[in-house]
Amino acid sequence: MNGIHLHPHDIIDEGTDQIFTLLNVMGDIHYIFPQVNTIFERNPYPRGMLPHNSVHEFVQGEGTWHVPLDVKMIYGELYQKVDSGVQKGEDSIQLLKEASSNTSFKIIPWLNLLNGDFQGNLANNGVIDFRGNYTENWLCPNGPDVVPMWSKLIIALTEKYGYTNYLIDRIRFPDWAGKEVNPKGLFSCFCPHCKKRMETSGIIVSELIDTMNMVAAQLKSQDFQSAVSILHQSEIISKWIHFRQDSVSSFVEKLLNEIQKVNPHIQLWLDLWPPSYAWLLGQDYSRLTKVSNTLKHFPYHKLGGGADVQGFIEYFADTSAKQEKAFQAFLTFFNLQYNISYETFKENGYPISFVKNENDKVRALSEANTHIFSGIQMWNIEENHLIEALEAAKNSEADDVLYYCYGWANEKLFHTVGKWNKTKMK
Ligand SMILES: [Zn+2]
Repeated sequence: MNGIHLHPHDIIDEGTDQIFTLLNVMGDIHYIFPQVNTIFERNPYPRGMLPHNSVHEFVQGEGTWHVPLDVKMIYGELYQKVDSGVQKGEDSIQLLKEASSNTSFKIIPWLNLLNGDFQGNLANNGVIDFRGNYTENWLCPNGPDVVPMWSKLIIALTEKYGYTNYLIDRIRFPDWAGKEVNPKGLFSCFCPHCKKRMETSGIIVSELIDTMNMVAAQLKSQDFQSAVSILHQSEIISKWIHFRQDSVSSFVEKLLNEIQKVNPHIQLWLDLWPPSYAWLLGQDYSRLTKVSNTLKHFPYHKLGGGADVQGFIEYFADTSAKQEKAFQAFLTFFNLQYNISYETFKENGYPISFVKNENDKVRALSEANTHIFSGIQMWNIEENHLIEALEAAKNSEADDVLYYCYGWANEKLFHTVGKWNKTKMK
């Protein structure tokens, strides 16, 4: 019961016949996760060409909304920019719905909740970093209009297309990546709603900001181990991490509650960061899996677990000796016990054991019987490494795999998966 991600341009440019033909070659796809709203991601990432798209060589995601719903009328206080394709009459979800109606594919629309080109009352709903600057394109889980907007949109999507399961992604505070590397976004959020919530939970905000300034100064002077020591030992940092997790969990709980008041059949599945990183970004596996029984996370071993690790390291460290020190501090901070150099990491990513290790951590942290999809990188990868990742996921605590993604994958990789599935069935 594996799955695969689709982007709107895959459906619009390639058509569902070509998509289904390639998916059928794989022989294991049950779920299709089509994207409803994009993030600021180049397709494919970070460079290269879409291998079987005859219309576009690449597509730059612009954080826009891709289905014909009047988002501004649905919730006027806060709404996402509508993609220009929609104005031309495009509706990738409707095309997929119609084409899949006489197939066995199950469609789970995929939504990016807190990151995108949002408009309206951003001053009251955006993320503010520790320096008091607005973090571009991120909504705060404590922003007062975020739950009302998303509950109304999800209800409207269900009324329009009839789907009742949604994969919710970008349910976290900002990471350091984005249009450009911005580690300041990690030290957030200091919007009025978050500051109030922090003070209520016993965090003295000025003291927290002082601590973060101290860490920032050490990172700037390239004293990485000292920065890690403060982050590990400071009581106020530990309270702040708890505050972040509480904020994201409450956001998901409130959202589901609002939605289920209107339609109790709607379920939200979770798209999370691998557990070694997720805790820092506000994702608490054990609490989140109390309200959702299915999740996906992405232990991309080749790319550092979905994280732009190299961008982060090279933002702070300018020589190869300093980069090595920064990388080792990074491994220490996230308790990633891999004995590898930065050079090796740049070449190969983490060792393949990262896949099993992260999947097993997810199992240990999650509620019993949580259904776990292990994300599988299906682009910019050799056939033998794809098989290696599939084997590692199969030998882990994950239940199934979710491929990322259809449009970026070279055609031969669909056959690679197909052949692997056939040998497994023998
Ligand atoms: Zn906030």
